[in-house]
Amino acid sequence: MRIKTLSAAVLITLFLCGCSEAKPVSETVFAMDTVMEFTAYGEGADDAVNLAVQAVRRLDGLLSATDPNSEVFALNSGETVELSPDTAVLLTKSLAISTLTGGAVDITIYPIVKAWGFTTSEYTIPQPSTISDLLEKVGYNKVVFDGNTRTVSLPEGMEIDFGAVAKGYASDVCVKEMTSTGVKSALINLGGNVCAIGTKTDGTPWNIAIKDPNNSDKYLGLLSVADKAVVTSGGYERYFTGDDGEVYWHIMDPSAGMPAKSGLISVTVICESGVYADGLSTALFVMGKERAIEFWREFGGFDAVLVSDDGQVYITSGIENSFTLRDTDLYTLSIFE
Ligand code: AMP
Ligand code: MG
Repeated sequence: MRIKTLSAAVLITLFLCGCSEAKPVSETVFAMDTVMEFTAYGEGADDAVNLAVQAVRRLDGLLSATDPNSEVFALNSGETVELSPDTAVLLTKSLAISTLTGGAVDITIYPIVKAWGFTTSEYTIPQPSTISDLLEKVGYNKVVFDGNTRTVSLPEGMEIDFGAVAKGYASDVCVKEMTSTGVKSALINLGGNVCAIGTKTDGTPWNIAIKDPNNSDKYLGLLSVADKAVVTSGGYERYFTGDDGEVYWHIMDPSAGMPAKSGLISVTVICESGVYADGLSTALFVMGKERAIEFWREFGGFDAVLVSDDGQVYITSGIENSFTLRDTDLYTLSIFE
């Protein structure tokens, strides 16, 4: 997993080299279970990168489901917790995204994620009866959160996993911290959750490579963006093959308690908010192409690249001129209006 994430970071970096004349300040750290890379240019770049690194370390300490000192760990242990402002904001946004997506993304999915072994890499296919028992504990609308006191308690057996949204939220916090130093050109890559601040120093957009879900050494296409988050959810990121020969991946359909087999193998969302891009990329993956496009038409405010298991790439019209497919023999491109 770490190696895969690292190769994504390297891939993106490749496209950044030679992009800018100013000397970058760059730092790579391991946090939130992934390799993170911060690059900033110009005045304030040093401070910007330092602030971003501090921010992700702080958020990791709050949000990790496995760190016994984290707020999420305390919550999942059944305690009533007075949340820090960051966790409270993330919880509020997560619940809003869950509502917006009709529960396609649901941060209370943790008991199911654990049952399949995705937290320990000891993978197993749970019995249907186990899944239906655990699904009783899942339901974002049962989280009792008082926004005034920032206190939250979970019904017995419910557990939270911010895995689908935490890196996106962290990128939003990093953008705030980094731009507070006056930096106008920077790139944040949180294990494939990318956020571009401004443009390259020559004023042209950043080029972000989206991974090819069928070939980890290749990229699917390039997106040119400025001031945008670009977040991909892919089945290929974490999966196992069962004795039955089936591939089971880490993105769950909360209505079934099973890995989401919607026909999509990769979803990238492009929008101004990192946390929305992150939440929506997971949600659209669960929804599948038809529902995802319906959702985009109804709510808008973002663009998307959907890759289906039959080699089709669908993009929304807003990125028609900023997305370039690498291999037009391997994939067929369609544009949604
Ligand atoms: P992402 O890579 O952003 O799509 O998030 C996937 C991670 O979020 C998984 O590794 C799980 O920890 C968690 N997760 C999986 N399925 C869901 C879901 N439907 N809603 C919320 N979290 C999920
Ligand atoms: Mg996500």
